[in-house]
Amino acid sequence: MLRLYDTATGRVEDLGLRRAGELSMYVCGATVYAEAHAGHGRFGLVWDVLRRYARWSGLSVRFVSNVTDIDDKIIARAAAESTSPAEVAATWEASWWESMDRLGVGRPDETPHATAYVERMVELVGSLLDSEKAYLGGDGVYFSTASVPDYGLLAPGPLEQLQAGARVEVSEEAGKRSPLDFALWKLAKPGEPSWPAPWGAGRPGWHTECVVMALDLLGDGFDLHGGGVDLAFPHHENERAQAEAAGRGFARHWAHSGMVVAAGGEKMSKSLGNTMSLAGLLGSHDPRAYRLLCLQCHYRRPLTVSPATLGAAGRAVEGLDAFGRDFAAAREVDPDAGVRARFAEAMDDDLDTPGAVAVLFDAMRQVRSAGDLGVAAAVIDAWEKGLGLPLAGEAEVPPEALARAAERDAARAAKDWSRADALRAELAAAGWLVEDTPAGTKLRPAR
Ligand SMILES: [Zn+2]
Repeated sequence: MLRLYDTATGRVEDLGLRRAGELSMYVCGATVYAEAHAGHGRFGLVWDVLRRYARWSGLSVRFVSNVTDIDDKIIARAAAESTSPAEVAATWEASWWESMDRLGVGRPDETPHATAYVERMVELVGSLLDSEKAYLGGDGVYFSTASVPDYGLLAPGPLEQLQAGARVEVSEEAGKRSPLDFALWKLAKPGEPSWPAPWGAGRPGWHTECVVMALDLLGDGFDLHGGGVDLAFPHHENERAQAEAAGRGFARHWAHSGMVVAAGGEKMSKSLGNTMSLAGLLGSHDPRAYRLLCLQCHYRRPLTVSPATLGAAGRAVEGLDAFGRDFAAAREVDPDAGVRARFAEAMDDDLDTPGAVAVLFDAMRQVRSAGDLGVAAAVIDAWEKGLGLPLAGEAEVPPEALARAAERDAARAAKDWSRADALRAELAAAGWLVEDTPAGTKLRPAR
């Protein structure tokens, strides 16, 4: 059974499911106002691997990930570009999916857009006002965090410390009773998009969007809520607090993925000028190299992304492709149960992908020395279906190259070595690696 570190309990726990065999998961998706960067790519890959592995291990998975298509940053960009927030959101959402598609990240089963759920958000805010767990401040409706006894469950430290940190923001938001209270509804400012509400037109706060969409699509007590570690507090805590205040069962487990850092462990940020755009990264590297690089680092740890680490992962992918071609015949064979079990054991242990990858590389060395096709089959299946990293298959060799190879076999059979050597040189010049096997000349593309 899959065990995951749960941010709410601080322990690795069995992923007990609401309904046996069915994993329901919600992951906070993109706020679409700018190009995705390397960190977004890792984030997409972590949840993609979890989803694929859950399926590989026999679960059916329902995966919901939202698109935040209304937000301060979207409005600001629209104003700067003299266009509409809807247009900004559409442009950057398309760019987001294009990058995720290139990474091989599967599209979610549902991608709810915040603007399509505003009515339901108004309902939730209204019910929280009715029960006095929310109040109207000067510029919006605020949630009273004091109304939730265990508020701060997902916070990284004691609430008093967070309160001290949050105090700075208080003066900016009018009428907040506590620095930890947050906006459920922002009253409209001139020129901003707004929706009607009994307490005044405006737009929902970000924390309200996710709780409404997650509960609407996955229902009470869904299995797993995930996101980047920077979202655990306050975003996820605030989602959870609203659900609790509304008397709804929320996520049974909380999982968070780590950040991406530059070489030397330096944080990547716009202000340091060391961010890497995802499109740029994918323009210069095999997308599978980035997936492998992510797999080689535990999902909760910071991942170093640099030309050096990407380059090393790219060379490792070439080795995987060579394996896929050399043992293409294994695709027709039953996979070895022992390798599958060792792979699953690592993955089940809080998604230990570095351990799982080590199991596969180990098995690959074993196949190279002993040639067991069942082991090769298990390896290929785990890379492709368990981890989402497709390997090259048997290369398609064009007929003229095959004809040259057959001619070379005939020359060798006739012990015409100079003719055989000339044909080898001809094939090499055409970009083929020529190997002598018991079954005759074998060709694979030189890289
Ligand atoms: Zn969210």
